Amino acid sequence: MIIVLKLNPTPEDVRTVEDHVRDLGYAPHTLNGEVRTVIACIGDETHHADLHALLNLPMVSEVIPIQKKFKLISREVHPDPMPVSVGDLRISGDSFHVIAGPCAVESMEQTLSTARFVKQSGATLLRGGAYKPRTSPYDFQGLGRDGLKILADVKAETGLPVVTELVSERDAEAVAEVADVIQIGARNALNYALLTEAAQTGRPVLLKRGLSSTLQEWLLAAEYIAKQGNPNIILCERGIRTYETATRNTLDLSAVAAVKRETGLPVFVDPSHAAGRLDLVLPLARAAVAVGADGLLVEVHPDPEHALSDQAQQMTFDVFREFVDGIKPYVQLTGRDHAF
Ligand code: PEP
Ligand code: MN
Repeated sequence: MIIVLKLNPTPEDVRTVEDHVRDLGYAPHTLNGEVRTVIACIGDETHHADLHALLNLPMVSEVIPIQKKFKLISREVHPDPMPVSVGDLRISGDSFHVIAGPCAVESMEQTLSTARFVKQSGATLLRGGAYKPRTSPYDFQGLGRDGLKILADVKAETGLPVVTELVSERDAEAVAEVADVIQIGARNALNYALLTEAAQTGRPVLLKRGLSSTLQEWLLAAEYIAKQGNPNIILCERGIRTYETATRNTLDLSAVAAVKRETGLPVFVDPSHAAGRLDLVLPLARAAVAVGADGLLVEVHPDPEHALSDQAQQMTFDVFREFVDGIKPYVQLTGRDHAF
């Protein structure tokens, strides 16, 4: 960390700060500039006390951290890609994956017909929520255990690995039994107890970015999972809350490019929840491919108009077919393998 002192510190001010720095286990190295005095504090920030407390000293102006707080998932520690294996699938920068399926599991027929169609169109994983985190407590909350049973049956029938959301620690075991990938949704993206529980199941985790998470918060949430000995993490940008009302959320594509610089973990984009409307799903998906996303997560429903959640953004089968055709040339341009 670097401590910047206020203008014109006395020699005693400097000594006082140096003493505090030593007390906290760092070696102070004072640099007297023409205008400013700064004290570089030598020591591993991850093993020593946080020096931000020194902001309370009257002669200290700023305390600037130098080291990144995340390690296990960072390119500084792992410069190479960190692929995630899901059964026989390898999710990495070499291949491009589409995760598709309904917002919510509503019935065997709805889930099975969707799974069959998306598989035949080139999706490699099936999504579908048995537990739905809804903004209103009066809205459909998911079929729960019955939904998990449907997902298990559909997986047995189609062979598609399943991505499904965990919303409560209580259900971790049951969800992990069926899920090939456990989804942590935007609303729970900073629920550290849930992240820890999901990680401990040993299943790969698809971690959505929180509605208002900074990149640092998103990456530190991933670090919580990795810290449990589970480095199988797929990050998923799904739009953040802004002042804009034309779309459900604002898809932050710069986050995809920026986060890929920080970590070798695969980064997916969910244009369905970002847009909240059907007409923007394809253009946002194309942009996601162009910016370097490793895959997409999209919602598909046999009859979106009568869906029990997210009606406006779910694609019909026909639209999904066009969607896959629409992203294909973009994926080909990136030189990645794909299943469509
Ligand atoms: C979902 O994937 O259906 C979902 C609820 O997503 P998010 O957590 O991104 O809102
Ligand atoms: Mn949804």
